[in-house]
Amino acid sequence: MPSATASNIKSLNVAIIGSGLGGLSAAVALRRQGHQVTVYERYDFANEVGASLSVASNGSRFLEQWKVDIPAVKPVILQRLIMHDWATGEVKGEYPLGDYKAKFGTEYFNFHRIDMHNVLLDTVRAKSSDEFGPQGKVVVNHKAIEVVLEKGFIRFENGETTTADLIIAADGIRSLTRENIGIKPQVEGSTSCCYRCIIPSSKLHELGLSEFVTNNGIEFWGGFGINKIVMSPCHDVDRANIRTAHNGLNKDGWNISATPQELADTYPDLDPRVVKLFLNANDIKMWRLYIHQPYPYWTKGKVALLGDAAHPMLPDQSQGYCMALEDAGALGYIFSEEFQEIWRDDVSKGLKLYERVRKDRASRVQAASARARTDLSERIGWSSSSDKPGKLTIEEVCGYNLLDHIRELVKEGVA
Ligand SMILES: Cc1cc2nc3c(=O)[nH]c(=O)nc-3n(C[C@H](O)[C@H](O)[C@H](O)COP(=O)(O)OP(=O)(O)OC[C@H]3O[C@@H](n4cnc5c(N)ncnc54)[C@H](O)[C@@H]3O)c2cc1C
Repeated sequence: MPSATASNIKSLNVAIIGSGLGGLSAAVALRRQGHQVTVYERYDFANEVGASLSVASNGSRFLEQWKVDIPAVKPVILQRLIMHDWATGEVKGEYPLGDYKAKFGTEYFNFHRIDMHNVLLDTVRAKSSDEFGPQGKVVVNHKAIEVVLEKGFIRFENGETTTADLIIAADGIRSLTRENIGIKPQVEGSTSCCYRCIIPSSKLHELGLSEFVTNNGIEFWGGFGINKIVMSPCHDVDRANIRTAHNGLNKDGWNISATPQELADTYPDLDPRVVKLFLNANDIKMWRLYIHQPYPYWTKGKVALLGDAAHPMLPDQSQGYCMALEDAGALGYIFSEEFQEIWRDDVSKGLKLYERVRKDRASRVQAASARARTDLSERIGWSSSSDKPGKLTIEEVCGYNLLDHIRELVKEGVA
């Protein structure tokens, strides 16, 4: 990886809007190349949700490359995907991930989102050094309300303003900056809602359900049709995370509280072990899913979208954050010394290359996530290109070389 140490780079002043996992990852990638990064967040960080986050090799390779302190994120290294019979819980299929690191270079991790957010914040704010690049800043209580594209100007709700050489809009699924660059999202309500909850391992042991935190796997019930349960351990195997999907069009929102009984009653004929777990879960939240079509473009002037602002996707491939990591990885590669001839005099040329390398691939994963909503055989790991041409596979997702792709495009004269 090109790094800040070797740099004869023109150091850019970069403003990132949004300090979610995507924005912070972009901040790490760009400081590693010697750029001065400031992240502007509308809140004060109280907002990250309690849920697990699986990061396949196409994402974890960037965490390793940027020397993020992965042990501090308390990872579980996933070993297998397990498919259960809906009613009896009998294991019907297993996809072993044993040779995963040898095949794809880095592990398939499961984290707790809050751990990841905290470690990324520390990584952005760590002191300047030759190896890690200039210290990044994170400024809270700054909601961006206006962006002037060609000038790199941002106005915040609190009356402050700033200018930057480059603006990365990582302001999430309801991005205001996306509207500012002229995109009108086509959004459709999905037929599905989800529940999420976390349950401590100690509780599972007490309930006689230790198997759900000792096998280092992502476990699935259902998934052929709307109903699906996904369970996985996180936070050093100290907690299990459960995400479920069901047809619940009667409610709307992102953080709707639900009771254990409501959750259990949603799935009356489910494996009794899982129902027992539901009846003992705390802090259960429900949210409604939406389907976004790909946007016509991602960049304008000095501004580029990243993460959920660029490609919001259903959770059914567990690839939303991995795609944001690839976005951040692409920015890090492009705004490095190797490619600075392209962007030194006009950053919009670097951003066009970013859009070119990222948009088709992220759109393909976005579409495959929507298909996997009701068909588990479309989910990477369970999918195979031999059962239906065009299916997204784990080989395509994790065996991809982003830097080679950028080099090919540059060679073809795309930039
Ligand atoms: C329950 C759940 C489970 C998931 N599991 C996985 C998984 O296993 N694997 C995976 O790869 N992905 C997973 N995802 C998807 C992944 O979490 C998201 O794709 C990723 O977090 C997106 O990050 P982001 O930074 O782009 O957006 P967000 O996390 O939405 O962050 C946007 C940030 O911008 C701030 N903001 C918004 N507007 C403004 C403004 N105007 N000014 C300043 N700040 C602003 C917000 O406050 C927020 O902090 C999951 C998602 C959910 C909900």
